[in-house]
Amino acid sequence: MTVVVLLGGPGSGKGTQAEILAERLGIPHVATGDLFRAAVRDASPIGLEARRYMERGQLVPDDITIQMLLDRLEAPDAADGVLLDGFPRNRAQAGALATALAERSSQVDRAINIEVPTDELVRRLSGRWVCRDAGHVYNESTNPPQVEGRCDIDGSPLVQRADDRPETIRARLTQQLASLNDVVDYYDGAGLLRVVDGVQAIESVADDVLAAVTSEAPGGATGAD
Ligand SMILES: [Zn+2]
Repeated sequence: MTVVVLLGGPGSGKGTQAEILAERLGIPHVATGDLFRAAVRDASPIGLEARRYMERGQLVPDDITIQMLLDRLEAPDAADGVLLDGFPRNRAQAGALATALAERSSQVDRAINIEVPTDELVRRLSGRWVCRDAGHVYNESTNPPQVEGRCDIDGSPLVQRADDRPETIRARLTQQLASLNDVVDYYDGAGLLRVVDGVQAIESVADDVLAAVTSEAPGGATGAD
C-alpha cells in the first residue's frame, strides 16, 4: 500500500491535481471533507460522533478524523494505496497520523508539496468569482467562464464577495500557510518530501507530481555523476 500526502496552499491547484493523480495511479483520492460528509450521510457510529462536533461548529478532533481515515484505508479500493488531501493540516496531526499508521505497520510513503509563491496565490484567489444563483465557482486566470460575467452552467451573473478581495485573502493566507509550512517541514525532516513547481500549466504540474510520487530516492538519483 502506498500512502501519499498531497500538500498545497489554497489556490495551489491541489484539489485538481489530486483528482488527476488518483486517476493516474489508480488509487482513491481521499479528501477529509468528503469523508466527513460520507460518514454523516451513512450515519456510521464515527460519523455520528463527528456530527456532534460539526453541529456545534467545532473542529472534529484529530483522533476521530484519523479513525475515519484508517477505516477508509480498509476499503477494497484502497488496497493499493490512497492519496490524502486535506489532512494533515498541522504538525500535531502529521505526528498523530504517523503514529496511527505505524500501529498498522504502515506509513506515509511520500508527501508532495505543490509550491506556489504567496503573491501568485493572492492573484489566483482574488480572481475568484461565484455565480449568484448556485455558487458555482470561477477564476479569472485558472477557470474563466466561457462568457465573461456569466455562469456556464445556469447563466446567472458572477459576483465577487468582499471576502475575495486581495487584502482579505493575503491576511487569511498568512495564517493558513504558516500551518502548511509546519507540515512541509515535518515531512522534509522525515525525508519524505518532494516539491513540485505549481506555477505551470495543469498538465505539467500533473506530470511533475506523478514523477515525484513514482521516483524512488528523494533528490532524484540519476547515476549520471
Ligand atoms: Zn451557476
